[in-house]
Amino acid sequence: MIQCLPLPALSRDCALFLDIDGTLLDFSLSPDRVFVPPELPPLLRRLEAWLGGALALLSGRKLADIDALFGPGFAAGAEHGALLRAANGEMIVETSPNSTLAVLAAPLREAVAARPGTLLEEKSFGLTLHWRAAPAMAGELTVLAGKLAAPHPELLLLSAHEALEIRPRGTDKGAALETFMSRQPFAGRRPIFVGDDVTDEPAIASASAMGGLGLHVARDFGGATQIVRTWLAESLEQGGGGATA
Ligand SMILES: [Mg+2]
Repeated sequence: MIQCLPLPALSRDCALFLDIDGTLLDFSLSPDRVFVPPELPPLLRRLEAWLGGALALLSGRKLADIDALFGPGFAAGAEHGALLRAANGEMIVETSPNSTLAVLAAPLREAVAARPGTLLEEKSFGLTLHWRAAPAMAGELTVLAGKLAAPHPELLLLSAHEALEIRPRGTDKGAALETFMSRQPFAGRRPIFVGDDVTDEPAIASASAMGGLGLHVARDFGGATQIVRTWLAESLEQGGGGATA
């Protein structure tokens, strides 16, 4: 059995914010092929109940993808905070789509079509170039994306794990966390965020700045999503939140 690192257990008065890919789930060759351990969605439901509803998923994925992975009804910040939805379905933040992204999408679509093993994830508020199955393409695609984005200073390019994120400036997971923290059932709680990537750093910083804890999978969990899941399950068990089988 994998042992948890000596991390503080979650307490019932926390607000919990979790990234998905590389944090709760292992990466796959393409984002639509990730494996969701069957015990994970019910564990998240029990955690949510134990925390009085103060649990939100903060991801670069589309809202529909988050729902497809874990079931509908979780509070979620999708597409790096461009869309924020409360657990009751209320849309808290809905950014206007950026028309420039469509201009970039066409040439990038052609570029990935010509490079087997790469793919373009097209979202409402961002584009993600993936090359996990063809890492040798990283340089070419990064240069191409940089050239295409250069005339559009409102766009931000961010290196991610075996991927490049292209999205408008102005939204990030830190702002998403702060917006959730200004509302019930999150307000007044101590924010705990777990993430694994450069796009998670703003939320790690926000959680710490608000008196909580910003945890990083590589730095705090030995780089293993299994340890994150075990830590969540053990915290729940220690806190009397129910069986975690
Ligand atoms: Mg991640």
